[in-house]
Amino acid sequence: MMAALEIPKIRGRVQEHAVLGPTTWFRVGGAAEFLVRPADAEDLAVLLRELAHEMPVTVIGAASNLIIRDGGIAGVVVKLARGFSDIIVEPDGIIAGAAALDATVAAHAAAASRAGLEFLSGIPGTIGGAVAMNAGAYGGDVAQILQWAEIVTRSGEVVRLNAHDLGLSYRRSNLPPGAVVTRAKFSAAPGDAKSIAARMAEIKASREATQPVRARTGGSTFANPPDMKAWELIDAAGCRGLTRGLAQVSELHCNFLLNLGDATAAELEELGEEVRARVRQSSGVSLHWEIKRIGIPA
Ligand SMILES: Cc1cc2nc3c(=O)[nH]c(=O)nc-3n(C[C@H](O)[C@H](O)[C@H](O)COP(=O)(O)OP(=O)(O)OC[C@H]3O[C@@H](n4cnc5c(N)ncnc54)[C@H](O)[C@@H]3O)c2cc1C
Repeated sequence: MMAALEIPKIRGRVQEHAVLGPTTWFRVGGAAEFLVRPADAEDLAVLLRELAHEMPVTVIGAASNLIIRDGGIAGVVVKLARGFSDIIVEPDGIIAGAAALDATVAAHAAAASRAGLEFLSGIPGTIGGAVAMNAGAYGGDVAQILQWAEIVTRSGEVVRLNAHDLGLSYRRSNLPPGAVVTRAKFSAAPGDAKSIAARMAEIKASREATQPVRARTGGSTFANPPDMKAWELIDAAGCRGLTRGLAQVSELHCNFLLNLGDATAAELEELGEEVRARVRQSSGVSLHWEIKRIGIPA
């Protein structure tokens, strides 16, 4: 681990050697050298402006698309909390703080009879993670509805960017390293409350039938290659149900990895690499990780 470097005085919470694993969807991963929860965007800007340049900064949301490695994360891990969770319905859209959960934002939109955000209802991450990953499902994605996102850059500047500036494409953005999304505005046109609720119920039922939604998982492990489905390639390579220690390729949806109990991050990552090798061998396709793997191996 790094640093005898200091954390600037901020109003939010700073915790040294903070265990992260239990707070992640996979329930794996070591500790953050410093876990910092800024009080609000101004506090975050002070942190990033005054923090030594050499100090690495990693941002995490709900950790629903992450494998944090067993050796933990050096430097500062920023996790946004209460001061970043407001949701405001405006005449031409909805502004949501980056710590608000996607499902909560979708529910607010539905309650205000605003259409277009239904796809967010089953994605278990935060708005910050949704912007950073261009989260999407059932034909919708963040790029289609984003009016702007506010970010604080690693040097502490507040900047407002649109989907084009952010380079949003399939499950990707080109957010600069160490930049933190603090809030975003989405287009949400007035709609029919009943059809919005029906669409959300349909999405919920479809997910429950096809995905291990209550498991220790990280969602889709690999991005779909152009015109192909990652799960079909994984299935064809005979990987459905494959295990390494207590890590398993889901039987229900074989692009999901599962932690069946006390799997380590290393087991999950090795299992993923085994799947990639088998898929390459059986179909010639190289799968790319959609799940972000961060931190230091044990
Ligand atoms: C059961 C299940 C189902 C899923 N279904 C879907 C789906 O249908 N569609 C889909 O797109 N995804 C899906 N996912 C994956 C995941 O929920 C999304 O990628 C989500 O957007 C990640 O948000 P998060 O807050 O958990 O981000 P994290 O997993 O914590 O982080 C993911 C990335 O976003 C960055 N990040 C997070 N917050 C910020 C911020 N405030 N500023 C800058 N960068 C940030 C992190 O640095 C990291 O690179 C699923 C996951 C699970 C477990």
